[in-house]
Amino acid sequence: MLNIWVFKSLQELVGVGPKVEEVLKRLGITTTKDLLFHLPNRYEDRTTIVDLVHVIPGYPQLLEGEITSQNLIPGRRLQATLTFEDLTGAARIRLFHFSRAYLSTLKGAYKVRIFGEARMNQGSLEFVHPEISVFKRDPPPLDDRLTPIYPATEGLSQAKIRDLVRQAFLAGPDNYALEELLEPRYIRDRPALWEALLAVHQPARGLPPARCIERLALEELLAHRLLLLTRRDDYIRFHAPQISESALPMRQRLRELLPFKLTQAQERVLIEIDGDLAQGHPMLRLLQGDVGSGKTLVAAFAALPLIQAGFQVALMAPTELLSKQHANKFSQWMKPLGISIGLLVGSMKIASRRLMLEKMQTGQVQLIIGTHALFQNEVKFGNLGLVIIDEQHRFGVAQRLMLREKAVILTPHQLIMTATPIPRTLAMTQFADLDVSIIDELPPGRTPVETRLVSQTRDADVAERLDVQFSEGGQAYWVCTLIEETDQSQAEAAESRLEKLKALLPHRNIGLIHGRIKSDEKTALMQAFSDHQLDLLVATTVIEVGVDVPNANIMVIENPERLGLAQMHQLRGRVGRGTRVSYCILLYGESISQQSKERLTLLKEINDGFELSEADLRLRGPGDVSGTRQTGDLNFRVANLSAHAHLLDEVADLAHQIRNDKPQIKALLIDRWISQEALFVHV
Ligand code: ADP
Ligand code: MG
Repeated sequence: MLNIWVFKSLQELVGVGPKVEEVLKRLGITTTKDLLFHLPNRYEDRTTIVDLVHVIPGYPQLLEGEITSQNLIPGRRLQATLTFEDLTGAARIRLFHFSRAYLSTLKGAYKVRIFGEARMNQGSLEFVHPEISVFKRDPPPLDDRLTPIYPATEGLSQAKIRDLVRQAFLAGPDNYALEELLEPRYIRDRPALWEALLAVHQPARGLPPARCIERLALEELLAHRLLLLTRRDDYIRFHAPQISESALPMRQRLRELLPFKLTQAQERVLIEIDGDLAQGHPMLRLLQGDVGSGKTLVAAFAALPLIQAGFQVALMAPTELLSKQHANKFSQWMKPLGISIGLLVGSMKIASRRLMLEKMQTGQVQLIIGTHALFQNEVKFGNLGLVIIDEQHRFGVAQRLMLREKAVILTPHQLIMTATPIPRTLAMTQFADLDVSIIDELPPGRTPVETRLVSQTRDADVAERLDVQFSEGGQAYWVCTLIEETDQSQAEAAESRLEKLKALLPHRNIGLIHGRIKSDEKTALMQAFSDHQLDLLVATTVIEVGVDVPNANIMVIENPERLGLAQMHQLRGRVGRGTRVSYCILLYGESISQQSKERLTLLKEINDGFELSEADLRLRGPGDVSGTRQTGDLNFRVANLSAHAHLLDEVADLAHQIRNDKPQIKALLIDRWISQEALFVHV
């Protein structure tokens, strides 16, 4: 089917030789079809000339005038400053790369047009390296269209890309690349593909109409969804352990051991999981729940029937610290059931590592907990039945599907747990290969955390308040954040904070934990905090995920403005787990912007993780929402999750129909929108 699409090779275009072809390849462009789907990511307006008096600094604008003087400034690097004048005023142009010949061309100019962003410097307008076009007589008429700006790469100018796209279009609407793959009933009253693409590459007047962009976004989102579904289908074709008994003795015994009952939401999710386990095909399920909603316990319950049926379960956590904590927790729950538990982390001594690997391969350990070290090549499982991935956002589609390689005969089931809820739009795009279960209820008896905004200048007052809480038996975390996320700078910030706090609270026991502290020591420190030998734990964001010390009731976050809302919420979720009234203190920096302050206020007002994740997405955009920045899954060409969220239900529906009725266009759509390189990254 794919063969009927014979695309023109790039070398048939004027101006493409082996060298340009190589450069285009870096952009994922290997055929003329790829050129047509290489879409501009923004536009520049060269349709009007702006007078100097009306220039707005910070926006690219087109000006026309004369160069009235030139100055060479010697220094470590030779600079040229030029004076540019139009009828309304004068500005400075600063050049760093230029030749003398170029300067004399400028001197001989009758008129110049410059395009660039102005800034204010020493009281006057200045352009640094604007684009300068030189004219010997009256300049030609202005463009009547916006100029598309394409994703580019070194060795390929915008003008070149524009010209190649124009040539690719000359093939006309019969070009196979532009064949309508979607039936009219799917497209409804939206413009044709040809029309939409043309409008985006060569907008008539003003920005391309939203309906044209939407037409393309629909197809692109559909292609991505179909790709994920295809990969899902490929995975779940395999056989997996089939578990059908539901009233299992091991689960019953764990229920009896627990000092509390599962919440209704936890019970409901377990039923959903059991439904998957009974299929005989691998489960691919995403478990979402707010911090503290008890996802870990659900994971334990999900593991039991597999273990009872003689399979191994692997639990992967993002850090060693969390792996060890899970190992403790699961030991409490599972050792009484006679289950053997193993830990595999990077810092293990060679001998004990080798021993553990052997136990895993022979099936002596039934539950194995660890970091991503679990899935390295030399790790072999005897009989892996279920993989649980805890709070590991960077574990993308590709890695999920590679777990098949750990299969012996049967392919393992997968349960993926998120740290905080994921906005619906992301769940529907990035995690479209997974079924979703949601725990929408917190265990009873939790008191919502009271969130306060306090200026950093009042850190001594905060310390005083902590002191009062310590006297009443409480404990606190003090989290230091840094923009530069090197271990060293973080460690330094945390250390200097520790010194200050020690001076303010000399009679208290204060611990310090950061990325440069050895793994064993970290564990010991966490244990000491957990045993209440420490009142206060100063930490970097290493404690961000998963730490569970119910007696801790205050979380201080220093410079919270540097974190995303979801990340702060995750930190805040470390407290409020016991019976004490709990506080989260956002200790903001002096120079914080009004916008950041408003963002922090959201955290104060919203306690629900699902609501916050949506707000976070709105504020920061999809690329950056905590934990979801990753494998390039979200590198859309036109689609934009904020602008096109309303299409997602339609896309899901269309994908479903195409999967059932028109499987032959699946591959065509995927190939059209997702470059070979990107496909490779996905796998
Ligand atoms: P999550 O991973 O979802 O953030 P955890 O699994 O760490 O949450 O659970 C938070 C705390 O709540 C743990 O101490 C856990 O033992 C406890 N917990 C879990 N389920 C319940 C329940 N149904 N009732 C009371 N406490 C629970
Ligand atoms: Mg957890």
